[in-house]
Amino acid sequence: MKRRMLVAGNWKMNGVSADLAEVAAIADAARDNAGVDVALCLPATLIERATRAVPGFAIGAQDVHVATSGAHTGSVSAAMLLDAGATLMIVGHSERREAQRETDAMVRAKAETALAAGLAVILCVGESEAVRDSGEAVTTVGAQLAASLPQVNHRRLAIAYEPIWAIGTGKVPSTTDIAEMHAALRQRLVAAYGDAGQGVRILYGGSVKASNAAEIFAIPDVDGALVGGASLKAVDFVPIVEVAAHASA
Ligand code: PEP
Repeated sequence: MKRRMLVAGNWKMNGVSADLAEVAAIADAARDNAGVDVALCLPATLIERATRAVPGFAIGAQDVHVATSGAHTGSVSAAMLLDAGATLMIVGHSERREAQRETDAMVRAKAETALAAGLAVILCVGESEAVRDSGEAVTTVGAQLAASLPQVNHRRLAIAYEPIWAIGTGKVPSTTDIAEMHAALRQRLVAAYGDAGQGVRILYGGSVKASNAAEIFAIPDVDGALVGGASLKAVDFVPIVEVAAHASA
């Protein structure tokens, strides 16, 4: 099945109003490369200003609380994100799984909350270097996906395979290893959702740059990328979008 590519940026805890010029430049490039979907997941504080600055461009969040409202100091609900103009969000990023001790069950609950509210979701999974070295990466990440997958509304779901050891390190798995993992994740999606699992995009994330994007996007079952460091500046991110558009043409 042909799936439309998605190139999404994850700004993590970076970005203030001065950086809206980068958002605008990236949104311009997205318009010029209409054959692929492009999005930026920003800090919550920038979402509303970004959606006002670049109407129609997909702006996302990086976390959500599972409750709709109430006594959850410091947290943000799905309805608040939608109200701010977000159309998508990341759940289960390894930095949150590690630092905030988010379990698969919590990730699944957040994904279900966001999807039920009408947001699209990028659900991240990935193995540590120790697991990769032990030869258990495919089994471990497959089990992580199965335990984190939402049971509902998967039409707006994408998966991001992000080996933890590749995030921000400049290291990237071999094309064979990426292909093996994406094929295994595709099988898990089909096992969970039937034929509809063929339609769920599987992004690769971890040190994607313009220089390695063409090789990564040529791998079967790679339907785009989740990009951290190289998404902060248009000069780095736009060439990745262009490579995706070229690969999709
Ligand atoms: C990420 O944190 O989601 C990520 C892929 O980061 P980087 O591109 O910087 O490796």
